[in-house]
Amino acid sequence: AKDAGRNTYRMFDEAMNHQVQEALRLRSNFQRGLAGGEFVLHYQPLLDLQTRRVVGAEALVRWHDPERGMLSPGHFIPVAESSGMIVPLGAWVLREACRQAARWPVQGGQPLVVAVNISAIQFKRGNLEQTVADALSESGLAPDRLEIELTESTLLHQTDEVLATLQRLREFGVRLSIDDFGTGYSSLAYLKKLAVNKLKIDQSFVRDLTSDPEDSAIVRAIVDMAHSLNLVTIAEGVENTEVLAVLRSFGCDEGQGYYFARPMPEAEFRRYLEAAEGV
Ligand code: C2E
Ligand code: CA
Ligand code: CA
Ligand code: CA
Repeated sequence: AKDAGRNTYRMFDEAMNHQVQEALRLRSNFQRGLAGGEFVLHYQPLLDLQTRRVVGAEALVRWHDPERGMLSPGHFIPVAESSGMIVPLGAWVLREACRQAARWPVQGGQPLVVAVNISAIQFKRGNLEQTVADALSESGLAPDRLEIELTESTLLHQTDEVLATLQRLREFGVRLSIDDFGTGYSSLAYLKKLAVNKLKIDQSFVRDLTSDPEDSAIVRAIVDMAHSLNLVTIAEGVENTEVLAVLRSFGCDEGQGYYFARPMPEAEFRRYLEAAEGV
């Protein structure tokens, strides 16, 4: 029994060791990757559900690691957050997204919005206002074309500092959106106080919209309450025409998902825009 215990311990130890090594490797590769242009942004279109027009795109980061190929953010964002590397990475994402969006053609007479994800750590420790101001002035992007996606957990502890940062971002004219809405704890009245523009309904509620009556009730309630507070609603994870039809019947304003388009490299997104504009 004693040996078995020791073996279990050794196996556990090796697994831990592997995890630690993996984290350390990621961490050191990060610096190199950021300096060496290994990160790229892909863009996923955001559509107006009534007109079917493209109204913007969400920037989603990818890491082209020369040893391991294309890594998705689920693999490296948590490490970037725990190591603090999310601050320089997030600053790069903001600058790159603004720089690229500045050259997108006007779509149906409307300038396109670019949505950028901001993690809680970046929000609290990243000198975000300065980074946003720099990204806007460097790129010449109109502030109302930048939409910042925050999660409910970022806003959960509304310290004076959090409120001041949000206020200043709004004064710049930047838009604020709550990502993964419905998975956290915010009340809508509280979001109104924060001067948020948009709620992005989490894909976990959208996916089974046509088969799960509870999800359907939740989505409908979010849309109705958001509208009564003059907030725009967007549904993420729209994968088929049935879900789209329900969202439209609920009056949801915008949608994003594989049904419309997957995230794509920027050059491809610009071709997608040309094709969409031609319709
Ligand atoms: P998110 O912000 O909720 O982004 C939406 C994710 O859902 C993206 O995954 C997107 O590719 C995926 N998605 C879009 N449409 C569909 C659909 O119809 N069906 C399904 N099943 N999935 C869909 P991705 O690109 O792997 O990003 C994962 C997460 O990584 C993001 O979730 C976001 O939290 C984080 N992330 C991505 N880029 C950044 C970034 O630049 N900064 C920060 N802080 N986080 C980022
Ligand atoms: Ca997002
Ligand atoms: Ca989301
Ligand atoms: Ca999510």
